[in-house]
Amino acid sequence: MRIDILTLFPDMCRSVYEESIIGRAKNKGILEIFSHNIRDFSTDKHRRVDDTPYGGGMGMLMQAQPIYDCYKYVCEQTGKKPYVIYLSPQGKVFSQDKAKELAHYENLILLCGHYEGIDERVLSEIVDEEISIGDYVLTGGELPALVVTDAVGRMIDGVLPNEEAFSCESIYNGLLEHPQYTKPYEWNGKTVPEVLISGHHANIEKWKREQSLRVTFNKRPELLETAELTNNDRKILDKIKNE
Ligand code: SAM
Repeated sequence: MRIDILTLFPDMCRSVYEESIIGRAKNKGILEIFSHNIRDFSTDKHRRVDDTPYGGGMGMLMQAQPIYDCYKYVCEQTGKKPYVIYLSPQGKVFSQDKAKELAHYENLILLCGHYEGIDERVLSEIVDEEISIGDYVLTGGELPALVVTDAVGRMIDGVLPNEEAFSCESIYNGLLEHPQYTKPYEWNGKTVPEVLISGHHANIEKWKREQSLRVTFNKRPELLETAELTNNDRKILDKIKNE
């Protein structure tokens, strides 16, 4: 998969995706990620990329031309039209299901706005979908683009050790994950649940499922309305509710 981020702050983006798991996947060639400075495509002699909004109003807007030329440059490089996402507080809120869906694209462009946003004409020309990372407003689309890059990138084959590494995590299967513990066995007077050191695989799996249901019931009960539950899960939940 190739992801191209169109931004006024390419170094900010690189400083995140060059690190850790996504950075290693990139170094191995499993993911291709590029950041393009929209300012490099300005035809203004002062490399200006923004101007005041028609009709008045606060702040500055990013102009259409540098963004469009930057987009065309990426299309020429990829040889096809990538799926273009504009990170925007007006978009649908991002989710694990959306990350799974986007992981099927070969080429994604993530367009980051700044200031008061972007001239509508270039958005209607190139954008396929708007994505928000939550109902709050940030100063720019860079952090949202990095959130999408990370969540989508880790779904790609070979980025994590195996599918289990993400399929058993919170949200992916509709539930939150069970509590986890690592060494030492005792810390601050607290020990690890005995079942986890019993070596009894079936009991460990049973405990994990029950804990997962318990955590979801306590922290995000609304997830239980859409999660795939067995009859046994429902019995466990009844027991939890009556405690
Ligand atoms: N004036 C715009 C509006 O009211 O819809 C908000 C502009 S915001 C200050 C600047 C840029 O930050 C946006 O163009 C967008 O790229 C990004 N942004 C801000 N909040 C966001 C969010 N919750 N999700 C995704 N992108 C966001």
